[in-house]
Amino acid sequence: MRIGIGYDSHRFAPGRRLILGGVEIPFERGLAGHSDADAVAHAVTDAILGAAALGDIGTHFPPSDPAWRDADSLVLLEKAVRLLEDHGHRVVNVDVTVICEAPKLAPHVPAMRERLAAALGIGSAQVSVKAKSNEGMGWIGRGEGIAALAVALVADR
Ligand code: MG
Repeated sequence: MRIGIGYDSHRFAPGRRLILGGVEIPFERGLAGHSDADAVAHAVTDAILGAAALGDIGTHFPPSDPAWRDADSLVLLEKAVRLLEDHGHRVVNVDVTVICEAPKLAPHVPAMRERLAAALGIGSAQVSVKAKSNEGMGWIGRGEGIAALAVALVADR
């Protein structure tokens, strides 16, 4: 068994869709980024890569590569899962905390769990997503962006 941690943050930007955990969430702003800026998917990808000591999302899918422009981050997550499998690992479970002041994410948690689980190739009971506010403090409290933390457990195949 091996454990990994992932973190990501993205700044809000006008004229972008808000995609978190592979789910499009209705909101007046989206997140800035080279890909679809799915901070939840990026944190999970870093957590599973970290558990296997296989680098991070930036090394495998560099923002300088036009192939990942506006990329569906769940596709990147699926590629990372395949990389783990090639190295003899499988993902056991994932736990995520998303931190933002708005929008309210709780109604979208079941869909995020389903989408992430499908990309990870595990059951949704093995995927936890929790939404928190930052109690009005700091850049998250001012509504400047969204942060996500993830841990992943990985086992030998
Ligand atoms: Mg990111």
